[in-house]
Amino acid sequence: MDSTDKFVEKIKKMAESLRAKRKKTISEAPKQDHQIGKKQNTRGEPSKETNEGDSGKITPRIMVQCGGYYILVYPERAEDVLKVMVEATQSGYDILKNNGTAVDAVEKTVSILEDDHNFNAGFGSLLNVNGEVECDAMIMDGFTLNTGAVMGAQHFKNPVSISRKIMDESDHCALTGEGAWEFAQSKGFETCWPEDLISDEVRSGRKKFETVVKKNFTGGHDTVTAIALDSNGHFACATSTGGIPGKLKGRIGDAPLVGCGGYANEYGAAGTSGRGEELMKMTLAREVVYNMERGQSAQESTKNAVQKLENRIRGLGSAIAIDVNGNFGKATNSPVMLWAQIADDSVEYGHERKKKID
Ligand code: ASP
Repeated sequence: MDSTDKFVEKIKKMAESLRAKRKKTISEAPKQDHQIGKKQNTRGEPSKETNEGDSGKITPRIMVQCGGYYILVYPERAEDVLKVMVEATQSGYDILKNNGTAVDAVEKTVSILEDDHNFNAGFGSLLNVNGEVECDAMIMDGFTLNTGAVMGAQHFKNPVSISRKIMDESDHCALTGEGAWEFAQSKGFETCWPEDLISDEVRSGRKKFETVVKKNFTGGHDTVTAIALDSNGHFACATSTGGIPGKLKGRIGDAPLVGCGGYANEYGAAGTSGRGEELMKMTLAREVVYNMERGQSAQESTKNAVQKLENRIRGLGSAIAIDVNGNFGKATNSPVMLWAQIADDSVEYGHERKKKID
């Protein structure tokens, strides 16, 4: 062994021992000082609303948000798009109903949206200035605060799932382009060619998408986001996007950045969409969860965060949230926001076209 090999061996051993320590810390994590997902707010005060069923058990819930480039370019598809979104939400909810984790649920839901050509994520992602797809995605486990993200990815049909792999099986929180590809190869994770992610309509409608986005969104608003609360009272979030059409090669948006596109901890989960350059400056998802930590409901938290985005930097964006009482919240000041939510087997969804914050 030469000295370089020895050095590599040493680093590997250190990484192994850190990994073991990290696992131990998580399994020994102290109990939370408040009841997660129970009917009380973060100050421990009783709440009028509850997410407990008659049995007193926490009932799981899930919420999804998708942007609107596609339905502005192809308005006749609005119904189909809503249908897929609701089905994806339902698939995540089914996992939760079967005692699956919030992390599994948000990954599943986002991966279904990535597979569908009507969403700017995974297959069907919009193109950068060079006519290439570059995907950003992240996933976060609100219980452990573990997170995984991929940035500028060109080799994955499901960027959210490689993000999950990075979270679960690497020592890092985020990998970019070629590095993510190498990591995936080493784990036997399925990869694809960049071309496989480009749909014909995106290729042929490229200019149309760019015009629609410039005109209506002053930047962006098409990330797919899922947030969930599972029956153990744990939160999670996941995001995925092809980003803003016509972006410079190598540009990274808010979606894969912790606290910008999504955030989850023991107080709730939030997901956002909008022009990444603005959302990042406000760390919008963290802002929403921070509001919930201060005792605001999910609705107040999203509304106040989007209002702040508007007041402070005239940003356009949307946010969704679930709070510790199981309440849903959503707010937007953008032209189009699609959303769906399921709790207690009741499905609600909508297609907002608003200029005002709701
Ligand atoms: N937030 C995304 C980004 O900036 C774009 C979007 O939501 O449409 O990459």
